[in-house]
Amino acid sequence: MFDYHMHSDFSADCETPMEDTIESAIDKGLSEICFTEHIDYEYPDPTIEFDLDLEGYREKIQEVQAKYKDKISIKKGVEIGVQPYLLDQYKVLMKEESFDFVICSMHTTEKKDLHSGDFFKNKTVDEAYEIYYQELLECVKHFDQFSILGHLDLVKRYSKERSPHLFHELISEIFKVIIPRGQGIELNTSGHKYGLPTGMPSSDILKLYKEHGGEILTLGSDSHVAETVGYDFKDSLELFESIGFKYITTFDNMKPTFHKIADIK
Ligand SMILES: [Zn+2]
Ligand SMILES: [Zn+2]
Repeated sequence: MFDYHMHSDFSADCETPMEDTIESAIDKGLSEICFTEHIDYEYPDPTIEFDLDLEGYREKIQEVQAKYKDKISIKKGVEIGVQPYLLDQYKVLMKEESFDFVICSMHTTEKKDLHSGDFFKNKTVDEAYEIYYQELLECVKHFDQFSILGHLDLVKRYSKERSPHLFHELISEIFKVIIPRGQGIELNTSGHKYGLPTGMPSSDILKLYKEHGGEILTLGSDSHVAETVGYDFKDSLELFESIGFKYITTFDNMKPTFHKIADIK
């Protein structure tokens, strides 16, 4: 089993030492994990700076890879927080630093924080969803240096009410851009913890992804504490199979490897 979304104290919003999370993953029998520390350029909340100490991170990953090499495989990933006007900065980052795996996430839309609710002010819920997906589409059209899209429908987590609409047309536009380029999506199982009925994205979007021929799929707990590593993975694999997915994906130096779900269940 593989967990491809987790944070350690290299992320500004997390205080968990890497070792704690690694040991929890070993205890739970995971064979591979990927740290995906935050980089969010120009995050709107001035009290938190989502910058990453790239050199320290590189060294720490090498250290834990060596320390735990007989027990678990550890990959070096990153979760970048995109907005259309920041893409050039991320292109520079990708030139300067190499990662095994890159999650492209949108935590901020129209330069406004989703988390604080700022983005939702003076909008109907439908307007908010529409703008969120439009902006994400804009990002993927102009930026291709990532492996998967993180928590694709994050807008649902922070909106006070849920839109009755599915926005499949817009989400399909996103899939039509990323799937031919060999990029995928994750199922982020932290959705449950935050009161959503499912992980992110919801299963209608997973089905839509399958209908568009999407094959690259990772599973991530988005852990910020050691205990939640591998959260809800058994049920998630069942869900994948029920939709018709046969493989989940891991990455090495940005190259995907496919693992049969039937073999790891
Ligand atoms: Zn995120
Ligand atoms: Zn995350």
